[in-house]
Amino acid sequence: MGNNVTYRENCRVCGSDRLDAFLELPDMPLTDAFLSEARLGQEFRCAIKIFRCAGCGVCQTLHDVDMGAYYNEYTYTTSASGFVSRFMRELAEEAWRHFELRPGDSVVEIGSGDGAQLAFFQRLGAKVFGFEPSAPLVAGARRNGIPVALRLFDHQAERDIPADCLPVQLVLLCYTFDHLPDPMDFLAAVRRVLDPRRGVLLLEVHDLAKIVERREFCLFEHEHTTYCCAATMQALLQRAGFEVLDVELLPEQRRRANSLLVSATLRGSAYASRALPTLDAGALGRPETFTAFGAAVRASVEKLRAHVRAQRAKGCRLAGYGAGGRGVMTLAACAQPGDFAYVCDQNPSFHGLYTPGAHVPVVPPQHALDNPVDELVVFSFGYYEEICASLAKFRERGGKLVSLLELL
Ligand SMILES: [Zn+2]
Repeated sequence: MGNNVTYRENCRVCGSDRLDAFLELPDMPLTDAFLSEARLGQEFRCAIKIFRCAGCGVCQTLHDVDMGAYYNEYTYTTSASGFVSRFMRELAEEAWRHFELRPGDSVVEIGSGDGAQLAFFQRLGAKVFGFEPSAPLVAGARRNGIPVALRLFDHQAERDIPADCLPVQLVLLCYTFDHLPDPMDFLAAVRRVLDPRRGVLLLEVHDLAKIVERREFCLFEHEHTTYCCAATMQALLQRAGFEVLDVELLPEQRRRANSLLVSATLRGSAYASRALPTLDAGALGRPETFTAFGAAVRASVEKLRAHVRAQRAKGCRLAGYGAGGRGVMTLAACAQPGDFAYVCDQNPSFHGLYTPGAHVPVVPPQHALDNPVDELVVFSFGYYEEICASLAKFRERGGKLVSLLELL
C-alpha cells in the first residue's frame, strides 16, 4: 500500500516545538490493513514515535500517514458485540437524561460507522445525522434509516447537515477525536454547528491515564494522533473555547476498556455554570512519568516476546482472540509470522484475511473449538468475561485462556 508519510515539527494542539519523544515502536503496520494471502508482506510499515508536548502536555505522534482510499473502504464496525450494543444504548440514554435533550433535538455523530449509535438516539426521539468516510458503512447506515454524509467532517461540513438539524444540540465522537490530524481546526468547525445555548460536545477517547497504568502500548497506532488524559483534554477544549462539564458520564464498569467520556459545552452556554474546576494531571503532568513509561513499555514488549518464544520452544500452540487494534498491534510488536496459529474475531469481514505485520490468519470464534490450541491469548480483554463464557468448551477440553493484561 503506497501510503505517504509526512512529518511535523510542531504540536498539533498548541504549536509549540518543545516535543520530547518517549516511545518508539519500529516497523508497525496500519491497524486495520488486513491482508489477503497474495498481499502478505506488501503492507505499509513505519515506526510509531510518541512525543509529549512540553507546552500543553498533550502526547501525540508527529507523523501523518496519508490514508488515501483506506478509509473509503473501511468496513470495521463494533456493533457485533452484545457489550458494545449495551454500551451504546446506555450512552444514548445517559446523555439524553444528563443534557436534558428533548424529542426533536438534533444529534450529529462524526465517524458514525454503521449508524448503530445514532439509531439509539433516533429511538429516543432525536433527529440524527452522521458523517462517515467509508462507503460500505454509509450504505449500511442508510439501509437502517440513518441519514449520513459520505465524508470527513471539516469547516465545510455544516453545508451537509440538513437545515432542520441546525444548530446541533449534541455532537458525538466515539474513538474518532483522537484520530484527527488537526484537532483544533476540527473544534473550530464544531463551534460553527453547535447550539450556542444548550449544545454539548461528547467525546469518547482512549484515556492516556489508563494506557499508562496498563502499559497498553498497542493503543499507539498510526491512526491515533493525540493521546490525552482528563486534565489535558480539559486544557485542550478550553483552548478551543469550550468548558468541560463531565469526564465520567457513565461509571467505569459500564464504559469500554480505556474509555474516557468527556462532555463539553461552548463557553457562555446555559450549561457553562456546570463546568468542572481545573483538573489536576497529577503524575501525568510530569515529563519523567513518560520517560519511565517508555522504559516500562520496552520491558513489556520484551516480556511478551519472551513468553511467545518460551511457549513455542515448549511446543505449545498459541492463538489469539480479538483482531481489533489491540490484537493486531500487539501481534505486530511481539510475534513473528508462524508464532500464532490464528486469531479469532467475531467480525466476518476479517475472516479469511491475515493481520498486518505478524500475518496471523483471522478466523471465526468457533474455530477455537474446532481446532483448539494450548493457549489462547485474549487481546480484547475488555470483553474477557464474555469471551470466557463463550469458550467454556475450549476450557473444558484443557485449553488455557490468558488475558493480555496478565502478560504485560
Ligand atoms: Zn502542545
